[in-house]
Amino acid sequence: MKHFTILTLFPDSLTSYFATSIIKRAQEKKHIRIRMIDLRRWGMGRYKHADDKPYGGGVGMVLMIEPLYKALHAICNRRIKRTQRVILLSAKGKHFTQVDARRLTNYDELICICGRYEGVDERITKFIDEEISIGDYVLTGGELGAAVITDAVARLLPGVLGKDASSKDESFAKIGEVEYPHYTRPEVFITREGKKLHVPKILLSGDHKKIAAWREKKKKFCS
Ligand code: SAM
Repeated sequence: MKHFTILTLFPDSLTSYFATSIIKRAQEKKHIRIRMIDLRRWGMGRYKHADDKPYGGGVGMVLMIEPLYKALHAICNRRIKRTQRVILLSAKGKHFTQVDARRLTNYDELICICGRYEGVDERITKFIDEEISIGDYVLTGGELGAAVITDAVARLLPGVLGKDASSKDESFAKIGEVEYPHYTRPEVFITREGKKLHVPKILLSGDHKKIAAWREKKKKFCS
């Protein structure tokens, strides 16, 4: 079983996504285990706060190093025999790709640190393995990034996709290659303006060799 541990100030933020579809079934079948852990468990003082004002002034709050450090200490326990990888979600991290998703399948446990507000105290980077961005835009928190990593990695694990589906045939199974287009019923879709949109005839031909050749031709390559 692969473990996904997500350190967050908002442990309910991904509940409905993880309780749906393939990711839900993967947990039920014990292919994966997802834990959303509240950073406030290691929060400071009576009110368990985990953020504070930035040194040097400026707007917003910054996640403090101490709760994060203590959380990592508790989770990255030497008695645990799992191989662990600590990932900080950050807009300035390395862009996440399918190659990274495949690489991350090699660890028993992925530990994702989700920043919030202005981000995290930079000193936590001394205790992480890598910093990942999911794209060139700023999100409110790292939770969506953690969900992206969890989903992309989980669907590559044996048994997670149903027996009819395979991640080997999907986009990026080969670097830079994206899948051919898909169609389903009806054969002809008529828009409100009366425009007819047809399914390519070849897909209705029953000629599997020609269909395979058409699909091969329709694959796209991106850099
Ligand atoms: N002040 C930061 C900046 O300008 O880069 C933005 C902080 S953002 C509002 C709060 C948190 O969201 C970050 O600490 C990070 O964990 C997460 N985050 C924001 N954008 C992200 C991205 N593109 N990829 C991954 N995580 C992101």
